[in-house]
Amino acid sequence: MTPILPAKLDWRDSDTPVSVDYDDVYFSTVDGIDETQYVFLKHNGFPERFIAHPHSTLVVAETGFGTGLNLCLLWQAFRQFRQDHPDARCQRLHFVSMEKHPVSDADLRRAHRYWPQLSHQTRQLQQAYPAPIGGCHRMEFDQGEVVVDLWLGDVNEILPTMVSDDSGLFDVWFLDGFTPSKNPTMWQPELYTQMARLSRNQATYATFTAAGHVRRGLEHAGFSVTKDHGYGVKREMISGRLLDAKPIAETVTEVAIVGAGVAAAHLALSLVQRGIRVTLYSQGQASADGASGNRQGAIYPLMNLAEDGLSQLYQQGFLLSRQRLNRAVAAGHAIDHDWCGVVQLSQNDKDQTKLAKVAAAGFPPELVHGIDRQQASHIADLPLDRGGLFFPFGGWVAPNQLIPALLQQAGELGQLQCYYDHQLTSLTASDNGWQLDFQHGRQARHAQVVVAMGHQSHLLAQTEPLPIQAVRGQISAPNTTPTLNRLKTVLCADGYLIPQLDGRLTSGASFVKRSSDARWQQQDVTEIRQRMHTSFGQCGWVEELTFDDSGRAAVRGSVRDHFPLAGPVPDWPKIIDQQSQLRGQPLPTLPGLHLLAGLGSRGLCSAALMAESVVSSLCAEPRPVDQALLARIVPDRFWLRRLKKGHRVPE
Ligand code: SAM
Repeated sequence: MTPILPAKLDWRDSDTPVSVDYDDVYFSTVDGIDETQYVFLKHNGFPERFIAHPHSTLVVAETGFGTGLNLCLLWQAFRQFRQDHPDARCQRLHFVSMEKHPVSDADLRRAHRYWPQLSHQTRQLQQAYPAPIGGCHRMEFDQGEVVVDLWLGDVNEILPTMVSDDSGLFDVWFLDGFTPSKNPTMWQPELYTQMARLSRNQATYATFTAAGHVRRGLEHAGFSVTKDHGYGVKREMISGRLLDAKPIAETVTEVAIVGAGVAAAHLALSLVQRGIRVTLYSQGQASADGASGNRQGAIYPLMNLAEDGLSQLYQQGFLLSRQRLNRAVAAGHAIDHDWCGVVQLSQNDKDQTKLAKVAAAGFPPELVHGIDRQQASHIADLPLDRGGLFFPFGGWVAPNQLIPALLQQAGELGQLQCYYDHQLTSLTASDNGWQLDFQHGRQARHAQVVVAMGHQSHLLAQTEPLPIQAVRGQISAPNTTPTLNRLKTVLCADGYLIPQLDGRLTSGASFVKRSSDARWQQQDVTEIRQRMHTSFGQCGWVEELTFDDSGRAAVRGSVRDHFPLAGPVPDWPKIIDQQSQLRGQPLPTLPGLHLLAGLGSRGLCSAALMAESVVSSLCAEPRPVDQALLARIVPDRFWLRRLKKGHRVPE
């Protein structure tokens, strides 16, 4: 975990928040709004800029998020523009801000009290404001029309890790951050070099300072520099644009998704939110008929101390999944769920040590903290024989309701056509994309295709070498009793137990590797019963769990390194052919063919973020993950690693 030190604010002497470490103000409560309007909005050409913008999304980068004032004012201007010009090309605002020392929840709320006119923005921002953990936190507002990536960390460490092709990512730069004399480490030549690398064609910038080294740095990196009067006591400020032209990325207008589980539903939502037409094909008769169709599923982030990024993926993913679920519910979709928290108990001594280390690692307590036996029993309202970890934000959701609701929401927000009873048998590259052949001789053509077929995702010629393993899992739904009715939280250990819904709890899951048999089986009930006894056997109430023929079996797709497969599909024949020249190079991929699979049993937590990652790369937009995490999830990673080590790719 990247340690993030929260900001220290001093509010004592006036209403103006002052940074204790930088000895500089965040904004003036007298003229903060005016200053932002003048420096950042006016000098980047807003609001007229929205009308003339040639892309569907306008992307802004900011150094120093602070209290979010710049964001809220730009967002307000964007809403006004959307109202006045509903048919203009630009339909979406993507605001990417980098913050080294995030202000606390309490300071954020306190600052926002000064801007009642921005309550539409501040209310939503406060609800989604992330816990102080490093990395990117993607937040979606106004039904996905406004996307905010808040990267926690140092801007000079974050920008170099952003993935971009030659066309760049950002249209506008807000160079905020404290004044260069008080914050010299931020205003470095590397910042301007990265700005030039990541700027889109005709990108502009504005900043409140006109310091000589800032001007020279920007000029040297290829930006024009124009001086103007500064705001308030500041004599001068500067703004300008990138002088060299950049290539313009192609616009994606329509995409086919194959699959109808949690991955497909989040993909559909991510795509329609960008104004992209979606056609969804699935072999089943309805959505969520595979691994995503259970009546209840636990949702909480996986937390460990390994430095491999897995824990990071689930922390970020969990918060986005939680937001999307809350948003669907707020939009009126009936989805049974309860953010009742999740208690994780150790399974043995070794596990106990591991959980204790996580508890002591300094994660934000609202995400996870350690609990002893009494606390665990109190939270669960049932006696437990040991402590472990508590995830207060976690809980459970009904996936068999969530997935149809996400698809329905996608249909309401944009253009989504669903074709069920369409089993894909093959894909063939065609002139402008792909030809899809389905059982019974049906065919379709699409420019872009995302395969999200769970454990069957590697059954196509193009995806066949991908290491997706089928894992069978069955759940039981024991009847509740007056004692079991008391259970107030999800319990996890060797298996899990979810509080009752409609008179039945959910308990699971069996775990049968290399099995793609989705039939209900008695032997799995025995396994689940055994897991409950191993987990909670010392607590008398376990005897009340009666296992009948309830429940459901399904097959998940998992990958041996436990990371999902999310991104472009590698071009195997080319890789095999050219392998001697590919060492250290990006591997060739199949244009227009993408994959989102291998979510294992954690799709509820990871699918939203992974869908955003796939769609962001498909649209050449800022990714919600950094380079290191991206390298962990791209489907060609196994072969890249082999080639890097000088091994050959198996033919
Ligand atoms: N844009 C903010 C707003 O709208 O409220 C105000 C920004 S405040 C004046 C400057 C911010 O820059 C602080 O929150 C500070 O922590 C952040 N900052 C300073 N150096 C940074 C760095 N190297 N990387 C990222 N953020 C930095």
